[in-house]
Amino acid sequence: MAPPRLFVISGPSGVGKSTILRGLLETVSGLRFAVSHTTRPRRAGEVDGRDYHFVSDEEFDRLTAAGAFLEWERVHDHRYGTSRAALDGGAGDLVIEVDVKGAATLREKVPSAVSIFIGPPSFEDLRLRLAGRARESEAEVRRRLRTAEKELPLARDYDHRLVNEDLGPTVEKVAAIVRAARAEAPGGSGDARR
Ligand code: 5GP
Repeated sequence: MAPPRLFVISGPSGVGKSTILRGLLETVSGLRFAVSHTTRPRRAGEVDGRDYHFVSDEEFDRLTAAGAFLEWERVHDHRYGTSRAALDGGAGDLVIEVDVKGAATLREKVPSAVSIFIGPPSFEDLRLRLAGRARESEAEVRRRLRTAEKELPLARDYDHRLVNEDLGPTVEKVAAIVRAARAEAPGGSGDARR
């Protein structure tokens, strides 16, 4: 049986990654979401173990010390990590959403990973989307936009770069990347679970 493939998705806050991921998981069969750990508080509608493993700072420290994470980063005041366990076991390919630094680490540790960067049509569009969802304070929106300025140039390091103009076509483009990777002969570049 072919080893599972790992698809790594990144993009600035507000670009629509979570919605795209939901659409992708509904569109492509045999794909699982690798659930990260985070110390950030749960948002309304989020489910522990489905969206994230929500843990305390102490628990995150303990897991870090135990070497449980393949990578972890501090993003906007909280810590987020990909556990080795999240990429282990179970059938099917995996998709994970990480920040740009986490993606760089995963590309290094899992050379067979397929990385996809999702960008906004324009910086102004991103500003409007972040302000429009009214989830963060104005100061927080400004902060996320400053982070986005640093993230957008790093799109060049990804295997694929997409612009999220419209949800449906973007989901279809990501699905096409997954299908194309699956159609390739196993290249011997390794198992996603290393
Ligand atoms: P949010 O709090 O909005 O869910 O996510 C904030 C940021 O953390 C996003 O850029 C997301 O991609 C990133 N993130 C989520 N899980 C992980 C992870 O396991 N590792 C890293 N490095 N970043 C993550």
